[in-house]
Amino acid sequence: MSARIIDGTFIASQIRQSVSPGVAAFTARAGRPPCLGIVLVGEDPASGTYVRNKVKAGTESGLHVDLRRLSSSASLDELLAVVRELNASDRHDGILVQAPLPAALGRGAAQQVFDTIDPAKDVDGFSPVSVGRLVQGRALLAPCTPSGVIEMLDRCGITMSGARAVVIGRSEIVGKPMAMLLLQRDATVTVCHSKTPDLPGVGRDADILVAAIGRAGFVTRDFVKPGATVIDVGINRVTDASTAEGLFGASSARMADFAKRGSLVVGDVHPNVAEVAGALTPVPGGVGPLTIAMLLKNTLAAAEARAKSS
Ligand code: NDP
Repeated sequence: MSARIIDGTFIASQIRQSVSPGVAAFTARAGRPPCLGIVLVGEDPASGTYVRNKVKAGTESGLHVDLRRLSSSASLDELLAVVRELNASDRHDGILVQAPLPAALGRGAAQQVFDTIDPAKDVDGFSPVSVGRLVQGRALLAPCTPSGVIEMLDRCGITMSGARAVVIGRSEIVGKPMAMLLLQRDATVTVCHSKTPDLPGVGRDADILVAAIGRAGFVTRDFVKPGATVIDVGINRVTDASTAEGLFGASSARMADFAKRGSLVVGDVHPNVAEVAGALTPVPGGVGPLTIAMLLKNTLAAAEARAKSS
């Protein structure tokens, strides 16, 4: 059996197309486009790439994207001051502070940022108010990656109600909200983490298996029930040739790519899972594009909700 490969890039383009008329209507009504403020601290190259992609996608969809850059020597107070300025701005509908923050800002920095963002503008869905609403099943702005996964499952006709779902990973930004959203869709959800015994055995129970771990190729075919849907959230850069070869085989197209670039972006799911799964998201081109599409959707939703409440 060979898994159906879910085309995240195509689904993301459908979502983006569905956002554009709403953006145009908002712009006509309000006399200005919905506005997303993005704050980028420091020079992390991966964060720089993510932010560039978000600015490009937002602008292409008709949003106004206001990028604020802070140097890597910026203090937490300076960062929080920018967040408060965007909170107070009438023009800004959404605020996103790109993660990860520089380690020099301290361990609790991200939480302080989430605590400071106005929940009405919290397009990442990480503020305590947003998390509370998510748990209560009344989120307006749910975290982009897990809500993108739900959109993907819906658009692929994969039934969540009554399904057994296993989420590997319990982070605040992916694992926990993913579990909540699946539960709200009437799946029976198990959340796993680094202390879970017999992960492969737990995984084999799943009709829908979501991997959000951050370890290249960790989920092998032993974790997967034949025919299950496997969603690979992981984004891992592999720079070691023997690791890449172990995943893809010496004569694969991916290894030719590795030889050209010196690295590969791979998911948490091993390529051999395609032999047992019913459906599988690729990396790249799976969940990643959905995350950006949902950010645009959330920004429009925030703009519309703010306009209604003003
Ligand atoms: P975190 O590091 O915050 O969380 C990882 C989770 O995986 C933790 O809950 C951890 O368990 C669990 N874990 C780690 N090792 C093991 C193990 N050996 N066995 C079982 N569980 C384990 O990562 P994130 O949730 O932020 O991200 C996960 C992955 O998703 C990363 O590759 C990241 O780059 C990617 N990502 C992709 C996005 C996209 O748009 N596609 C968006 C966001 C993230 P414990 O809690 O016990 O430590």
